[in-house]
Amino acid sequence: MTLATENAASSTASREAVERIDAEAVNTAGKRQPLYAPRKKIFPKRASGQFRRFKWLIMFVTLGIYYLTPWLRWDRGPYAPDQAVLVDLANRRFYFFFIEIWPQEFFYIAGLLVMAGIGLFLITSTVGRAWCGYTCPQTVWVDLFLVVERAIEGDRNARIKLDAAPFSAGKLAKRSAKHLIWVLIAVATGGAWVFYFADAPSLFVDIATAQAAPVAYMTIAVLTATTYVFGGLMREQVCTYMCPWPRIQAAMLDENSLTVTYNDWRGEPRSRHAKKAAAEGRTVGDCVDCNACVAVCPMGIDIRDGQQLECITCALCIDACDGVMDKLGRERGLISYATLSDYNANMALATAGGTETINPDRVRREGGGLSDKVAHFHWRKIFRPRTFVYFGAWSLVGLVMLYALLTRDRLEVNVLHDRNPQYVLLSDGSVRNGYTVKLLNMIPEPRVILVSLEGLTGATMNVVGLDQPDDRSAAVPVDPDRLREVRIFVTLPADRLSEADTSFRFVVEDKASFESDVYRASFNIPEGSR
Ligand code: SF4
Ligand code: SF4
Repeated sequence: MTLATENAASSTASREAVERIDAEAVNTAGKRQPLYAPRKKIFPKRASGQFRRFKWLIMFVTLGIYYLTPWLRWDRGPYAPDQAVLVDLANRRFYFFFIEIWPQEFFYIAGLLVMAGIGLFLITSTVGRAWCGYTCPQTVWVDLFLVVERAIEGDRNARIKLDAAPFSAGKLAKRSAKHLIWVLIAVATGGAWVFYFADAPSLFVDIATAQAAPVAYMTIAVLTATTYVFGGLMREQVCTYMCPWPRIQAAMLDENSLTVTYNDWRGEPRSRHAKKAAAEGRTVGDCVDCNACVAVCPMGIDIRDGQQLECITCALCIDACDGVMDKLGRERGLISYATLSDYNANMALATAGGTETINPDRVRREGGGLSDKVAHFHWRKIFRPRTFVYFGAWSLVGLVMLYALLTRDRLEVNVLHDRNPQYVLLSDGSVRNGYTVKLLNMIPEPRVILVSLEGLTGATMNVVGLDQPDDRSAAVPVDPDRLREVRIFVTLPADRLSEADTSFRFVVEDKASFESDVYRASFNIPEGSR
């Protein structure tokens, strides 16, 4: 055997010794996976039941608040707007019923946002994604758009049929009517938003007569487009692909958080032919595989596949399945709000501690019904360390804000000492300092604010522009809800320079409301005067 032949034989043997892995490239040039899968349309069926009714209620309340709030009036007197909730950007004020927030009080808004964040943590750790399922604007508007769609095109089967039907005048009319109403809702949504930023009745007239500012039309256009696209066209895709919340909230759930759960420990093995199974001596679960839960799901998922990111916990599948259980004469709750700890306990019961496959007979009593050993949610589980911490933090922020709100001053003074020159030596030997004094009248009524000197014995003051003699105090009128800036000269006679304590205070008072504020200032004198 030649050397070449020996090498070839040895190479062949080595190749055969290498194990071949059973794998296939899924992204080859000829079989590249698409980056974006086309959307499969979802045609949610109308659900009915307690959770659906609760969702109707939430929908009416939230939409009512959103659309009607700008039209509520609140009498603040002749010097302030009478809109109950108003973000007055031009005058940099935020009005919320009896509360008025100035720009320097923005921490109240920051505090509210912090409370909203902690509140969301609290709700999620307790009842899961209740925000997503009931109150999120995306959920509410999709629900509203679905109401319109059902009213025009019919329920699930009719809509599927219409969607598959060839183009016709009837189809065009239905589709046009639906999209027209969607656009009107979207315009109303964008319109309602701008009413929060100006006097709603006047702005309405301005918009209708094409006299509003361009920014109002642009805002309405943007919000109309987003409402129509997100609520009418994209629907569940916004929740699944665009919203970060489903990803974040997983960190807030624990084994005692309530989530919508398919209780496979009593539902499996599922069967559409319970009688046949019984005749064959097979045990079957409560699920009759009717797909009612799938048909109502607005996210197009099957809750029986377990917890999924797409599930917004709207609980419509619970309503659908409860309806089926009622018809079958079985206990409700095959799909229910349940905690992971209860689910695990029941699963252990149905699988004999995980040693066997699910046998629903293990969770049933003689003669039907669920065994007393089955774990159910108890309200006590809401009260646990995590929820106490969230509630404590939420309450603390709320109480601090409430205290700050109830004790805040509506009269403030800020003073800026002239830096150049720091003082002026007058011909009679006295020394004069200049100050810019800002008086904030934070109530919607005119006030006469008394500005006085406290300390600096012998000094007098003069307010530039006010026809008042030099004195230790001066009355300064300030317009309602305004800041007034005045120049004040403080003069110290020459014979007081050596004994003067150069620190003193500007005291501002409103004698009518007994409100006051103080600013500590200093008085500059030439070196060597003391
Ligand atoms: S699975 Fe049920 S709770 Fe989840 S989104 Fe669908 S219908 Fe709502
Ligand atoms: S609605 Fe209930 S019974 Fe019907 S498929 Fe869903 S889980 Fe099973």
